[in-house]
Amino acid sequence: MAKITDKQALNTQQPDEKGFFGKYGGAYLPPNLVGVMQEITEAYQKIKVDPTFIEELTHLQQTYTGRPSPIYYAKRLSEAVGGAKIYLKREDLNHTGAHKINHCLGEVLLAKKMGKKKVIAETGAGQHGVALATAAALLGLECDIYMGEIDVEKQNPNVRRMQVLGATVVPVSRGTKTLKDAVDAAFEAYLADPETTMYAIGSVVGPHPFPMMVRDFQSVVGREAREQFIEMTGNLPNYVMACVGGGSNAIGIFSGFLDDAEVKLYGVEPGGRGPAPGDNAATMTYGKPGTIHGFSCYLLQDKEGEPLPVYSIASGLDYPGVGPQHCHLKDIKRVEYVVATDRDALVAFYDLSRLEGIIPALESSHALGYALKVAGSMKSDETILINLSGRGDKDMDYVMEHYPLEAYEEQKLLVK
Ligand SMILES: *Cc1c(COP(=O)(O)O)cnc(C)c1O
Repeated sequence: MAKITDKQALNTQQPDEKGFFGKYGGAYLPPNLVGVMQEITEAYQKIKVDPTFIEELTHLQQTYTGRPSPIYYAKRLSEAVGGAKIYLKREDLNHTGAHKINHCLGEVLLAKKMGKKKVIAETGAGQHGVALATAAALLGLECDIYMGEIDVEKQNPNVRRMQVLGATVVPVSRGTKTLKDAVDAAFEAYLADPETTMYAIGSVVGPHPFPMMVRDFQSVVGREAREQFIEMTGNLPNYVMACVGGGSNAIGIFSGFLDDAEVKLYGVEPGGRGPAPGDNAATMTYGKPGTIHGFSCYLLQDKEGEPLPVYSIASGLDYPGVGPQHCHLKDIKRVEYVVATDRDALVAFYDLSRLEGIIPALESSHALGYALKVAGSMKSDETILINLSGRGDKDMDYVMEHYPLEAYEEQKLLVK
């Protein structure tokens, strides 16, 4: 198989000393946070090659998360589309129902090894909060989750889950009372007590070392997938596709294939209601370089460089920035970034449910939605591997309210 050179591979895989992937990333921090981030970087660099840490994390992945997650050939779906064969990496089968547990276990284990007593984070829809609260309960650390007051009201089941798991949910009442203000409040709390707490970011975003560290913890998905796919089919997949919010599940699966130049990688961004500002969260498709939350990346921004309000039917995808490594992979053209709209995602949500008995998360449905649009024009000996990042139980109420069954059945979209 054609390999790109080690030098090229290193360029795509590792940030420089300051945490830059090409032009993106870094750590734009208030002076009092510089030392704290440095401490996390140093601890992580040591721990990631420590056999005891690796062994402990691997053991938890196997016995607690349920790794390896299988790869599944979606035969009925593939036949209905009538083109490329579609395979799913089943991250929806993980404990807690999504890929986020992969980096939360890593982050909380790191915090514990650093002697911290508490992990803190912000959450929007609550998915990161629940995964972090789970890992904190498992490893016996305290957990404070900052959440905008509006989100606390909207996401009641996830708030309850976090509380049952022993986390403290801190409602944030300033500003817009949503995710952006929750990030600010969580950072302030972290600054007030960096000795005993660790901030645990929920995607491959934020200041260095988080994009690198969260990526490394998610790369287990790509390592498994490459091996499983070859074992199953004798070949590499022709295409690997994943949805991109902050970009953690996508970089996790891509990292297994970045060095395989012949594998085409597609990151699928949320196209929402369309291209108008405020109607989507397709950062790399419609944004331009800027700075947010301590790092630089493609950003959906206004003329002053302030982040624009964003929208997607999938709450896990509505972030105006994106992981710096993705921005670099876009610029060097190793990964192609495309969009799937709300409607594409909803059709895919029903199609997979009806044809395979798998209800996907609305986030993952974006990757699936794009695949369904292009698979039909591909040859039947071509293969698409999709990272099915999570399950859709959490989305049932929303889908039933906004896109009821009758609407799907009337359109007779894909199911024959
Ligand atoms: C949070 C979430 C995402 C989006 O986050 P990434 O960091 O882009 O992976 C995607 N899928 C599911 C199921 C999620 O919960």
